[in-house]
Amino acid sequence: MKSIYLDYAAATPVDRRVLRAMQPYFSEQFANPSAIYLAGRSARQSLEQARSTVARLIGARPGEIVFTSGATESNNLAIAGLMEQHPKAQVLVSSIEHESVLAPAGRYDCRYLPVDKYGLIKLDELAKMINDKTVLISAALVNNEIGTVQPVDQIAQQIKQVRAQRLKKKIKLPLYLHTDAAQAGNLFDLHVSRLGVDLMSLNGAKIYGPKQTGALYVRAGIGLRPLIVGGGQEHGIRSGTENLPGFVGFAEALRWTQTHRTSQLKKTAELAAHLLELLEEQVPGFVLNGHRKLRSPHILNISLPGYDGERLMMELDERGVEVAVGSACSASSDQPSHVLSAIGLSDEIARASLRFSFGRPTTRKDLEIAVKYLSEIVRRADD
Ligand code: PLP
Repeated sequence: MKSIYLDYAAATPVDRRVLRAMQPYFSEQFANPSAIYLAGRSARQSLEQARSTVARLIGARPGEIVFTSGATESNNLAIAGLMEQHPKAQVLVSSIEHESVLAPAGRYDCRYLPVDKYGLIKLDELAKMINDKTVLISAALVNNEIGTVQPVDQIAQQIKQVRAQRLKKKIKLPLYLHTDAAQAGNLFDLHVSRLGVDLMSLNGAKIYGPKQTGALYVRAGIGLRPLIVGGGQEHGIRSGTENLPGFVGFAEALRWTQTHRTSQLKKTAELAAHLLELLEEQVPGFVLNGHRKLRSPHILNISLPGYDGERLMMELDERGVEVAVGSACSASSDQPSHVLSAIGLSDEIARASLRFSFGRPTTRKDLEIAVKYLSEIVRRADD
């Protein structure tokens, strides 16, 4: 039985073009980029080429890109790296951030930005919460559980005004905006100036690149305290011998995905609309969690009140359909998701949720089969 994988927000397969780009760097061009003989210089050149590619795709300069092991590390580096420079300052994070933002932010003076029932940050609340101690605001571009797209550019506008006021008041503390763009790479514009962000986390594993690869964009002039110290690689911000095959693969993955994002967005939106139609026809009573429009179409989170999401997920799995449950915060927790709680769902409705997420190989037929099974499972449970 061929399985129908609908969990692309959790992991994507490595694209064959990416694999091909990485291949030479395992056994042939394996030299250390810090070595100064020819093979080392050649490795350095490949590394810097990958960095330039990433920089160009997001409208940054190569010196502003720090390669990392993925979005978890990038988020930790952005938050802890900055807060360690300003330990008495305050960080504001949205209450629906990924754990890799919440956990480092929670080590400092951190306040949580409320969201509305769709998961959108309340901009008027944000304006009230920024004070003279705030140094960093962090909001994911696309939420990983419900797909909500934050108005990051509008947050950036607010920050601009605060900066101007600080200048007048002669307050020296800087104010920066960080976005976790781990779920945004396939379908959204990542141009840092258009977004207005100062720091941005990227992840290779969600964009058909290798796992444990990614980058942090750090606007020129922002000082971060490194989390990993040693040989001083990555502009002294992230020591350790560079994962050259991984970073070459990450750059190639980002190149393909950013070049084709408009057509992929259209295709994915059509799939999402089809899935919603199928659910409306065959699974009465489901609730869409998140916004109908201001949502990345690759994520569709629903609740089926009266059912247990985990049970539904397991029954779908028995039929070869792989989806995620929105009920658990992490694999090791049986608490309802903090995201679903933050948008106002009761524990019961939060536990009744399923997350479908699509990728490049997903077809209309996959969704039709998945919904057919889901409706059978639900009907059987009702009997
Ligand atoms: N941020 C978001 C929004 C994510 O979806 C994920 C992964 O699911 C991460 C951060 C962490 O990525 P990784 O575990 O690959 O470091």
